Amino acid sequence: MTAVIDYFNGTSSVLSDRDVDRLSAALAAALSPDLIVTGEEAWRLFPGDQCWLTLIYAHHGKPLNRPDVVVSPHSTEQVSAVMRIASEMGVPVTPLGGASGVQGAANANCGGLQIDLRGMDKVRDLDLLSLTCTVEPGLIVKDFEEWLNEKGLSFTHYPASAEWASVGGSVAARGSGVLSTKYGNIQDHVLSLEVVLPDGGIVQLPDVPKHAAGPEVTQLFVGSEGTLGIITAVRVKLRRLPIKRSFRTFAFESLGQGIEAGRQIMVSGLRPSVMRLYDMDATVHSLERAVAAGLSSETMIIMIDGDHERIVDIEAQLCGEICAAHGGRELSSSVGQTWWDNRYVFYHPPHAPELPQIWCTMDAVSDFARIEQLYHNVTKAIRESVDPKWNLSLKTHLSHWFDWGSMIYPRFGIPKGPDDLETAVDLHDRIVRAASLAALESGGVLNDHHGVGMRLAPFMEDQFGESGMRLLRGIKRGIDPKNVLCPGKLGLS
Ligand SMILES: Cc1cc2nc3c(=O)[nH]c(=O)nc-3n(C[C@H](O)[C@H](O)[C@H](O)COP(=O)(O)OP(=O)(O)OC[C@H]3O[C@@H](n4cnc5c(N)ncnc54)[C@H](O)[C@@H]3O)c2cc1C
Repeated sequence: MTAVIDYFNGTSSVLSDRDVDRLSAALAAALSPDLIVTGEEAWRLFPGDQCWLTLIYAHHGKPLNRPDVVVSPHSTEQVSAVMRIASEMGVPVTPLGGASGVQGAANANCGGLQIDLRGMDKVRDLDLLSLTCTVEPGLIVKDFEEWLNEKGLSFTHYPASAEWASVGGSVAARGSGVLSTKYGNIQDHVLSLEVVLPDGGIVQLPDVPKHAAGPEVTQLFVGSEGTLGIITAVRVKLRRLPIKRSFRTFAFESLGQGIEAGRQIMVSGLRPSVMRLYDMDATVHSLERAVAAGLSSETMIIMIDGDHERIVDIEAQLCGEICAAHGGRELSSSVGQTWWDNRYVFYHPPHAPELPQIWCTMDAVSDFARIEQLYHNVTKAIRESVDPKWNLSLKTHLSHWFDWGSMIYPRFGIPKGPDDLETAVDLHDRIVRAASLAALESGGVLNDHHGVGMRLAPFMEDQFGESGMRLLRGIKRGIDPKNVLCPGKLGLS
């Protein structure tokens, strides 16, 4: 691992002007000229994702997303035709969903072709008996949820980025939403996928994931960040909208008490849909800004929902008893309700961070045996990696819980980074490196739900080890022998 990563790497596209002309002509003939944009127009219309690296490089006139050609297909057959052409010509291809990723994964950082999937946004079928639905990848999560809500149904995938993230991008980045503790991360919502392979082959994976017809291949593509295939349809599981939501809020004297209460809740089989435990800094400087309730110690918000009022009431009561038994002091239930009503304000001005700030979330996941130490080690490493003159802020919460463990969500910010690009990126990278290595040394996994992208690619070898990377690279080579899909991403090539 080098100390300073040159994300822009100083090269222009791998394609010559002649290649770009040939590619554009072939795509125009196979699809339609009006589905293609090239050159500067492509860079202007597709500035890249929401990763801080993408934003800071673009700000300094060095865009990390620099496709030569962007194509916007409207059908699986068109995606297949595009991949056949790209594969025959050996052109790098990067799929693009809602461009809300925060790791730089969707950037066409070595030029080539970007496939914008937002034109594929139809619902293909809705099965009201099985409560399943097949949708195209470009459908925006919020639009999908609103469409379902009108029918009394829910996708239950509620990421904070719902208004930008696409269903396909959520699957490809292995995302998670605020209701994950009960309903699961995106991988738990996915029943099946339709995927276009690098050579243009169209694969319909088995309709449901519970089978013994060989290994479960669908999950191989979940989290593959566009490196193995283009997801062109997703069959997902739905739920009815809950008839009741109940909130409880507790203040703890220490984070450890809150973690133990959360652990007891999860291992005893209770399933709150939301369980968010904020450390002191996150309570005071983040949650308090949304709820204005005078919070002054580690706080946990719990939401229980469901289709049966009596079960919701009993679960809420039992969760409360467990929190109280671990030192939790109950606060007004309106705190949780207010957080729920205001949960998106953090992602819009004036709360959302903007340049010249530096910011990043270093989420990591582990079992209960290691989670508290993971929290202490990662937050300490982040603090110690930065000179105090930069006024680092660090707010951490635990928001996705499992019956074996949980995750930490440390968000750091520097109010004003260095003016010079290289120094700013070096400062950002120093913090990311310290946090990543501390998480790995503590037995944590990088990361919980934001994916790898450009930011964490250098740590894939630390995460998987040499043999693990050989396995992953072997899978990649087998599916994509010409390495056309997202070359260099996920540390696979
Ligand atoms: C303010 C904010 C809040 C956020 N909150 C959350 C949150 O609560 N939970 C969460 O999980 N994430 C969150 N994110 C991160 C981001 O929204 C997720 O990573 C999301 O899953 C990305 O979806 P997208 O459609 O924008 O994908 P993109 O950013 O366009 O792409 C992500 C990756 O998927 C690949 N890809 C996209 N579509 C396809 C496809 N059809 N087939 C194959 N590969 C594809 C891309 O090549 C890239 O590697 C947040 C981001 C922001 C900016």
